Amino acid sequence: MAKYVYTFGNGKAEGKADMKNLLGGKGANLAEMNLIGVPVPPGFTITTEACTIYTEQGKEAVSSVIKEEVESAVALIEELTGTVFGDKNNPCLVSVRSGARVSMPGMMDTVLNLGLNDLAVQGIAKKSGNERFAWDSYRRFVQMYGDVVLGMKPESKEDIDPFEEIMEKLKEEKGIELDTDFTTADLKLLVIQFKEAVLRTTGKSFPDDPWEQLWGAIYAVFDSWMNDRAIYYRKMNNFPAEWGTAVNVQAMVFGNMGVTSATGVAFTRDAATGEDLFNGEYLINAQGEDVVAGIRTPQQITLEGSRRWAALTGVSEEERKASFPSLEETMPSLYEQLMKVQENLEAHYKDMQDLEFTIQEGKLWLLQTRNGKRTGAAMVKIAVDMLEQGIIDEKTALLRIEPNKLDELLHPVFDAQAIKNSTVLAKGLPASPGAATGQIIFFADEAKKYENTILVRIETSPEDLEGMNVARGILTARGGMTSHAAVVARGMGKCCVSGAGAVKIDYKARTMDAGGKTFKEGEWISLNGSTGEVYEGRVQTRTPDMGGDFGKIMDLADKFTRMSVRTNADTPNDARVARGFGAKGIGLCRTEHMFFEGERIKAMREMILSSSKKDREKALAKLLPYQRSDFEGIFEAMEGFGVTVRLLDPPLHEFVPHQQATQKELAQEMGISLEMVKIKIAELEEFNPMLGHRGCRLGISYPEITAMQARAIIEAALNLKARGIDARPEIMVPLVGTFAELKNQADVIRATAEQVFQERGERIDYLLGTMIEIPRAALTADHIAKEADFFSFGTNDLTQMTLGYSRDDAGKFLPDYLNNGILKQDPFQVLDRNGVGQLVKMGVEKGRSTKPELKVGICGEHGGEPSSVEFFDSVGLNYVSCSPYRVPIARVAAAQANIKNNR
Ligand code: PEP
Ligand code: MG
Repeated sequence: MAKYVYTFGNGKAEGKADMKNLLGGKGANLAEMNLIGVPVPPGFTITTEACTIYTEQGKEAVSSVIKEEVESAVALIEELTGTVFGDKNNPCLVSVRSGARVSMPGMMDTVLNLGLNDLAVQGIAKKSGNERFAWDSYRRFVQMYGDVVLGMKPESKEDIDPFEEIMEKLKEEKGIELDTDFTTADLKLLVIQFKEAVLRTTGKSFPDDPWEQLWGAIYAVFDSWMNDRAIYYRKMNNFPAEWGTAVNVQAMVFGNMGVTSATGVAFTRDAATGEDLFNGEYLINAQGEDVVAGIRTPQQITLEGSRRWAALTGVSEEERKASFPSLEETMPSLYEQLMKVQENLEAHYKDMQDLEFTIQEGKLWLLQTRNGKRTGAAMVKIAVDMLEQGIIDEKTALLRIEPNKLDELLHPVFDAQAIKNSTVLAKGLPASPGAATGQIIFFADEAKKYENTILVRIETSPEDLEGMNVARGILTARGGMTSHAAVVARGMGKCCVSGAGAVKIDYKARTMDAGGKTFKEGEWISLNGSTGEVYEGRVQTRTPDMGGDFGKIMDLADKFTRMSVRTNADTPNDARVARGFGAKGIGLCRTEHMFFEGERIKAMREMILSSSKKDREKALAKLLPYQRSDFEGIFEAMEGFGVTVRLLDPPLHEFVPHQQATQKELAQEMGISLEMVKIKIAELEEFNPMLGHRGCRLGISYPEITAMQARAIIEAALNLKARGIDARPEIMVPLVGTFAELKNQADVIRATAEQVFQERGERIDYLLGTMIEIPRAALTADHIAKEADFFSFGTNDLTQMTLGYSRDDAGKFLPDYLNNGILKQDPFQVLDRNGVGQLVKMGVEKGRSTKPELKVGICGEHGGEPSSVEFFDSVGLNYVSCSPYRVPIARVAAAQANIKNNR
């Protein structure tokens, strides 16, 4: 019989760490921690397969397969804790949490203190000897259960949580300010009023039966897998809906049982910088959610961390000691235990861990461990440090790099001079590094209001996720390093300053007070997520340094890669930037961009509107020197590496003017009538330009264009040779679908080259190849290879033509396809392996069946996308080519692909 429930507790477990797909990350690690002797409250995990049954077949179906297993698992918790579900003397209380196979911060809902009712609360009061604590737990439970399971959480930002409203009213009546000011009698009254609110809103009484509570919570966790936030997060990360979430039910331990109890969150290394320093935050007499919710200011776990925190936030040593002491100072022996546990866990998992712990009346319990989310900088530093500390090997270090996250390290930091002249408005915690400058917005759903926005909030919540992703940076007035804003921003690699208490926010007025000034929505501020500083206005940024640990990772990538990485670049500057990032050549130089600037566009238009070959050649002669000097610049910047220059590709109508005034000007310059210009332009118009007169079709109609470009390339290379510079031109014909097309153009190119060699009395080596971007070219690649020294897959066009989706128009319907699950990913971003991929594979195999040594690369957008790069490695391409800023990403992805494909 299939098994849907896995128990753990008391040093035993039915699951283990490598069962993440079935038990979720949290469940698998709870089991593993039991097995390695870490103290964990007993509990059980309902599998992700059960979630899938629920999602696909509903409640009845899942209940019929898991009911008995859940009942005996609860019995085990009762046995191990010596408690009884719903008992008035010794009640069993549990937490119910979600846990997908990868952690999704803030995505799923949690219920604590489940099992409390009017009887059980007496048991807790007796057991703890603290009636107020018992009723406070009960009050929190009804509220959390009402919000999460019974759906009473407000939907919109204007609505108020009904439970908060009731509490506010009571505070007002009693003239008190804080939750902690409520008396036991107040809490009892709140429970009654909360339950009345539940009945009013839902039409049903609050469930008193612990079993009914438990099943409600289990289904709510399953439901939360399909909530909007979870769906958005999955989409953002390309996680499929089929994974499902597990449900973890675990005996409660309490961090809010007085001054010998505490709760906290810790990282075995610094998640922002990667520094090998145990760190984290805790609160005495608090429940888990209090630390991350940003309501109270959390304290640091280590003394060193505490002193650093005080320095950053401007708290004096006396005040720190008195009001914010570290765990190391307040509970030294528990601190020692926690230190040992964290060392054990990191040594066991061989990666930086993110822990949750609770201390209940002097006893330490671990509630969770997982590989910690980290910034791009921390990711690189931790991988290199662990390699150098002998914890992991080179391949593992390289595989620890999430290539896309390197992007964070390639982007600007504040310009040192500009920052000196800027005014600091406030200082918060350096929650997620980087520099951001943008216009203030106060609501996450308005993040797109300006091009660059900074989201300013008192604190953030999971509802803000989408807006946080859009904003350049995030500033919060409350919350610590583990607040929602901080954790999520680090995961996104987004600059964040949290807990800037000096910033006073007025949502109604849409203003923010800081540094003695009032800032309105739309005004500019800048954030330094590495120092926590908030600056007035727009501060200039500059590109970061590429050496150090980053360089070490890049060296490792080079050591393990098979494919090389080239860049797509059309200017000497782009070529230099890409070379700085380690590009080994240019895989695509699009020449069309070179015809737009300044005087060139005039000559280009003259060429297009010429009515005879002679006139056309006259205009082309004007373009030749521009082209030649462009190529010289690019070849020089890429000295010693191959540079693939693609001949003119787009349809000619893209170059002609569409405004009357410019048309008039052109007519005058060319000495023809405006009417004539208009007629010519009309002639060039096409119904379907993407499938029209473009690519080699232009060169076939007007071979003089091909000849001019070939001449410019060869002359540029010869000019450089004369200067002792090693230029390696590769001439590429676009949009070839038949052998004859390529042959036609190859003849023109070779004849031109020979002519130039004769004129100059000097030769140079060059390659002649073709794009493979029309399905027919892939299908007949064996034939085409006879005329080609190399192939370069144009996966943009190949995707367009294989799927029949216009590149220009797909944006209109692709979102519907993605939302309806018809496509899992945008095929213009992630290569469609099953379809387009087959053509790529076939093209490589057929091409090499004619020429075994045929050099084959790819220069479509997919060349910088890690999962596509893995595919290109598997089919044996020689190189990928991508935009300059993606070169380091592609280098790591290519090395990882080689490691994975050879396992
Ligand atoms: C391609 O089609 O993939 C390609 C690289 O060419 P372009 O994007 O210029 O059509
Ligand atoms: Mg193309």
